[in-house]
Amino acid sequence: MGRPNVGKSTLFNRLTGSRRSIVGDEPGITRDRIYGEVAWNGRSARLVDTGGVIPDEEALIPAQIFVQARFALDEAAAVIMVVDGRTELAAPDLDLARLLQKTGKPLFLAVNKIDVETLDAAAENFRQLGLKSLTAISAEHGHNIGDLLDEVFAAL
Ligand code: GDP
Ligand code: MG
Repeated sequence: MGRPNVGKSTLFNRLTGSRRSIVGDEPGITRDRIYGEVAWNGRSARLVDTGGVIPDEEALIPAQIFVQARFALDEAAAVIMVVDGRTELAAPDLDLARLLQKTGKPLFLAVNKIDVETLDAAAENFRQLGLKSLTAISAEHGHNIGDLLDEVFAAL
């Protein structure tokens, strides 16, 4: 789950080893739920990619995308919230974090687009969201993906 353009589909493709989810610079490019299989240390799980969710601006995103994301959330055993580590933490991030916390499901924050170590400090800003688990990743380059999967699979 996450706002548009943070890299959810890039992460989905990285984790499932596929290119099934369309990646692009147009926010809202993933309109349906896309399912894939992620394998890790002899186990596997079903992964769902969704369109971006902005709780604050619900009226501004096509209703269908929000509905799809809601379905995915309802059926999930654990949730990865993805944020763009190169942007400032903003109110919609807090709103989404609270919405996801309310579900009571295990929640993992992936601060994406941390392609180089010099950006690690930027990722630390997202500690302000107050989530228990934070991993700075680069979905594009594959950094720290194993750390993220270790945490997620431990909760499944
Ligand atoms: P989504 O809308 O959340 O599904 O985001 P996408 O996966 O479509 O990615 C949005 C944009 O961010 C694309 O231009 C991606 O190439 C770019 N992007 C995704 N992951 C990374 C990353 O780890 N580093 C950088 N620099 N760009 C990324
Ligand atoms: Mg997408």
